[in-house]
Amino acid sequence: MDQKKIYPTPMLDILEEGPWPSFISGFKRLRDKHPEKRINEMANSLLGQLEHSYETRKGYWKGGTVSVFGYGGGIIPRFSEVGAAFPESREFHTLRVQPPAGNFYTTAMLKQMADSWEKYGSGMVTFHGQTGNIMFIGTTTENTQHFFDEINEYGWDLGGAGPCVRTAMCCVGSARCEQSCCNEHAIQRHLVNTFTDDVHRPALPYKFKFKVSGCPNDCVNSIERSDFAVIGTWRDEMKVDQNEVKAFVKKKGRQYVIDNITTRCPTQALTLKDDDTLAVDNKNCVRCMHCLNVMPKALSPGDDKGVTILIGGKRTLKIGDLMGTVIVPFMRLDTVEDYEKIVEMAQNTIDFFAENALEHERTGEMIERIGLVNFLEGIGIDVDPNMVSSPRQCSYVRTDGWDEEAEKWFQRKAEEKAAAAG
Ligand code: SF4
Repeated sequence: MDQKKIYPTPMLDILEEGPWPSFISGFKRLRDKHPEKRINEMANSLLGQLEHSYETRKGYWKGGTVSVFGYGGGIIPRFSEVGAAFPESREFHTLRVQPPAGNFYTTAMLKQMADSWEKYGSGMVTFHGQTGNIMFIGTTTENTQHFFDEINEYGWDLGGAGPCVRTAMCCVGSARCEQSCCNEHAIQRHLVNTFTDDVHRPALPYKFKFKVSGCPNDCVNSIERSDFAVIGTWRDEMKVDQNEVKAFVKKKGRQYVIDNITTRCPTQALTLKDDDTLAVDNKNCVRCMHCLNVMPKALSPGDDKGVTILIGGKRTLKIGDLMGTVIVPFMRLDTVEDYEKIVEMAQNTIDFFAENALEHERTGEMIERIGLVNFLEGIGIDVDPNMVSSPRQCSYVRTDGWDEEAEKWFQRKAEEKAAAAG
């Protein structure tokens, strides 16, 4: 592009001096090397505004309302307050597009999307934003509709933005990971397909996120970052290949195994025996995944696999970070009816959330405010002692009334068992 028109960026240039790849270098590449003049100008204008922001220590983006026909969300509008000085980036909206479950793409798909984005947008893309969307950053109000129409034609849909069900996320799953204990992609598809309307039309008190992890490693951080977390687990004994254990000990040495595996088990459930085999106290294993991650050939999840469902995780907002509370300790997913049970539970949770949460309040905050028992009653789930909200930190606990409650629980379990038997 014409050198005279390039905005000087002395402050932004400093950001390129660090050891890590800089986003400024990426912007400059679009400004200087991209064959399309429109994209060069957009990147130049954006850099000019950003430098101006650094100089004045102020942000100049404001929101607004931009949408595509039939949708109420999915676009993050950005209008510049200094558009007169930097006209080519005066409208710089972001489109959130839902990725496929597990983020599996073909090269052809990626090329197709990139071509459309270079036609209508700035060329800047993020794979993926925190919620899980593909973020197409920087286009005008008019081109928002054109770009959406084109990619929608070949199968992509907008994600959630605003107070709605957000784009769901799941880990890469059993296609590439031996620890997977469930069909993450099927769970995600069932949830996303059911709640598509709630993704596109923001009608909730605040955002609601689904995330699915195939095992307790929880690679998509569902326990911390989603209102409804589904995490694969197993309830029988973990599988131990003692020959592989011996080979591992031979390679690394007994001391290494003791220092790095058995003593790091949080519940002391592992013992390295004199003959270099490993004994596992499965009743005390809390599925932290440490030993399975270090010795993946020797140790693997058991055969009785299923999922744990936790509700109410979220990052900082009103009452600080919250981890999800275990609502369903274990359920198997063998039949279509099992998947429907998860969807039904999600539907009850969202309905209850919609009716009872305050404006701008997440599910976890609502549960804190009204109490877990009331929430469980609202979504029609019986209280279970395995519903762990957080590990106990104090060994002094008042136990008044516990015996009576335990009695009720045992009685209920006995009734369930009798009903199942006959
Ligand atoms: Fe211990 Fe964690 Fe291994 Fe279970 S998974 S035995 S808790 S290290």
